[in-house]
Amino acid sequence: MTAGACRFCGAGLEHTFCDLGMSPLSNAFLSASQLGEVEPFYPLHAYVCGSCFLVQLRQFESPRQIFSDAYAYFSSYSDTWLEHARAYTEQMVGRFKFGPASLVVEIASNDGYLLQYFKRGNVPVLGIEPAANCARAAQKAGIPTLVKFFGAELAVELKAQGKSADLLLGNNVLAHVPALNDFVRGLKVLLKPQGVITMEFPHLLNLMRENQFDTIYHEHFSYFPFFTAEQVFARQGLKLFDVEKLPTHGGSLRIYGAHAEDRTKATSARVAQLLDEEARFGIADLRSYGNFAEQAKQTRRKLLEFLVDAKAAGKTIVGYGAPAKGNTLLNYCGVHSDLVGYTVDRSPHKQGKFLPGTHIPIFDPERIRQTRPDYILILPWNIKEEVMAQMAHVRDWGAKFVIPIPEAQVLS
Ligand SMILES: [Zn+2]
Repeated sequence: MTAGACRFCGAGLEHTFCDLGMSPLSNAFLSASQLGEVEPFYPLHAYVCGSCFLVQLRQFESPRQIFSDAYAYFSSYSDTWLEHARAYTEQMVGRFKFGPASLVVEIASNDGYLLQYFKRGNVPVLGIEPAANCARAAQKAGIPTLVKFFGAELAVELKAQGKSADLLLGNNVLAHVPALNDFVRGLKVLLKPQGVITMEFPHLLNLMRENQFDTIYHEHFSYFPFFTAEQVFARQGLKLFDVEKLPTHGGSLRIYGAHAEDRTKATSARVAQLLDEEARFGIADLRSYGNFAEQAKQTRRKLLEFLVDAKAAGKTIVGYGAPAKGNTLLNYCGVHSDLVGYTVDRSPHKQGKFLPGTHIPIFDPERIRQTRPDYILILPWNIKEEVMAQMAHVRDWGAKFVIPIPEAQVLS
């Protein structure tokens, strides 16, 4: 029996990568009145394709349900992410000389947090964002934004209107696309003959090496080795001519794509280097994927051990942040408000709500100053430095920070 077909190559999915049990959708925050209602839980079971080695989830919810108006993620609330966007813009303009005659198109442009930097540099922009509330925030800030899902159909439509992209970018969107081949076909259609595509996504190699099982959640359909990303683009007549490793989200890749027939882009040595690194890891060998599920179980045991011991010693523990990865972690580990009393988040859209599944309440970060907990569990561990700097005052009463991944660890 197979669990369906690979969303890239169509081979039957037979090999479990990691089964995280049943979990609610990670962005399905609850209001107080919803706490007594039935909450949908879905299997969170990742498979690895034995043919192309794409790690993937089956799709249970349609993207329209996931990215509805209630979608609570506004990019602009993270300082680290804003700085990442600003530096990216500078790098792209410097390297590819985009100017007033260019068009930069961002897919899943959120509230316009990134395109604002191109706009300030007088480079024309277009955002494409399916979540209407995020798109409205962008339009209000003067960033032209279409409230649409990107795919081949929209690309053809835009091209017919005379629009095509000098730079076509998507950060953390490739992983969230259910119809992967249709999406990449759309990139091919919308790209100018000498245009550049950049896409960022968490690198599967890091996920495995650093035990980042909490980055697996329902809205995140695909987990790529570079090896597989290259095949996905090649199938649509696109080549990857460069790649960079980034520290974002615990270790991401930024890939650079162009038309296969574009002779103006030399292929960087970094492409062969990364393919070689992945080959040495055994990325195209199913045996390399066999230990991951056990690592996740060990991490769960260590986190629970820490929390239970701390509670037994009379300590108080609260969370910081309400990211998607936190929901996977807390649901998989079975951590409820008896262990982690509450969490805090800077986004006013999340404050006053409850985490899905675990029903841990979310407050304004100020709550930590008022209640003086002993431990603060940083759920977005990928931005732990930023969190620790913002919350430096907790050291006044001797509070300590804890990260859950790659294993529970108290930071002094
Ligand atoms: Zn496959």
